[in-house]
Amino acid sequence: MSLESGNGRLSFFKHDLTQPCEGCSAPCCTMLVLPHPAPVRWMDFDFLRYSLGFPGMEALLYEDGRWSLVVHRECSNFDARTRRCNVHGTPEQPRTCVYYSPHHCWYKRNFNGDQKHVAPPDVLRLDLAKLDRLLQMIEFDPEGLMVSWPGWPAVRDAIAQSSTNGAQQPQQTQRALP
Ligand code: SF4
Ligand code: SF4
Repeated sequence: MSLESGNGRLSFFKHDLTQPCEGCSAPCCTMLVLPHPAPVRWMDFDFLRYSLGFPGMEALLYEDGRWSLVVHRECSNFDARTRRCNVHGTPEQPRTCVYYSPHHCWYKRNFNGDQKHVAPPDVLRLDLAKLDRLLQMIEFDPEGLMVSWPGWPAVRDAIAQSSTNGAQQPQQTQRALP
């Protein structure tokens, strides 16, 4: 029975034998992703700007409206030379790592290798300049509550443009929040 079709696709049994972490740069061990409440007030965004002023910090915006803050630092248990975990399979390894499934890995899909200049498929990566670009598209009421949000496609396109064209002029907001 053939396990490979010859067009790069793998059969069920071939996939079953594949090591999911093989060839991965291990972004799961070199970035700490901290879920962050979605900002709704001027001060919430100010806190994000404050956070991104620190080296190695990044914000992630998901299409469904979730946010995360990322600390780009290697775990102290990570061996940068072998790119392996020094406490793998020992009681010292956090259960968070033990129970994480590398199959269909979100880290690998979005952050494997040197992808600093590549847009990941599932999230928008925001440094301070890109967050400021986003803030040009948001409006607040006099009490500082966000009252309009341009929508994911407009934000994604603006961030992509700012990556290549530098600072852009503010665009008109398209959709009022409920
Ligand atoms: S768990 Fe995911 S990110 Fe970590 S080494 Fe495996 S495939 Fe790569
Ligand atoms: S404990 Fe090991 S598996 Fe978990 S993040 Fe650190 S190096 Fe990676």
